Amino acid sequence: MTPKKFEFKVTNRGNVAVEEGYIMCKVDGSPVNLTTFNLGARRQLIGTIPFTFKKAGTYKLEVSVGPGTSQTDITPDDNVKTRSCNVTYDIELWAGRWSNPQNLDIQVYSGVFDYISQKDLKNAINQWNGIDSKVSFNTSQMLSVDEDKGKKVTFATYIDENTSVLGVTNVFKNDEKTWDQWVDSPEDEVCVYKKANIGFNLNGDFPNLNTGFKKATATHECGHLLGLKHTSCNDMAIMVDGIHSPLFATTIQEHDRYNLKMKY
Ligand SMILES: [Zn+2]
Repeated sequence: MTPKKFEFKVTNRGNVAVEEGYIMCKVDGSPVNLTTFNLGARRQLIGTIPFTFKKAGTYKLEVSVGPGTSQTDITPDDNVKTRSCNVTYDIELWAGRWSNPQNLDIQVYSGVFDYISQKDLKNAINQWNGIDSKVSFNTSQMLSVDEDKGKKVTFATYIDENTSVLGVTNVFKNDEKTWDQWVDSPEDEVCVYKKANIGFNLNGDFPNLNTGFKKATATHECGHLLGLKHTSCNDMAIMVDGIHSPLFATTIQEHDRYNLKMKY
């Protein structure tokens, strides 16, 4: 997450220069940073302190000058400042977006329902509905098909003998492949998604996953399809890379909702 920077001012009101004074910073009571400084008599020091956070939340910051020193010319009450600070989620988005991601229609190639039931797949996809009024999937017609019916979103199975990834999402612009989740595309590229396909890799663990993880895989891939990328912070999320991560959630979390709303 981007470090937050706080400006501080320290004034030496005395007649003696401070040598190797120190500033202690705490977050929620735990020391995180110690800075030393020299400051002449009757001088003021202005600086910034970076605070690094790994999770969204509200934190109590405390900055104190020379804590624990017992000089008579330091007024303890005047040497500590606290404030609370709101840290929002990191923005974790791929380049590009759907211009109108409402009622995205879906086709499911035959074979997929051998590995995940129609009900479970619908349920997994529907998790994204209702978060942002501009984004929804139309799961009312999800029949097994053998040929391309021209729908925007396609689910299929595939076999990649070189990897054991559970699934992959490809997004196309103007019917041309622009990126998939395994390629780091320039994140500032402006493009409009036209079609996308999601594949479940039968070479990996996907066929053996329990229903909860199969659904979570489908929900996760739909997140990529909407333009979300893997998270890099310490928040729980469906968009965490890898179901074995302790941060991987099997359902959509606040962090995922936040990014979807940021996107659209
Ligand atoms: Zn992924």
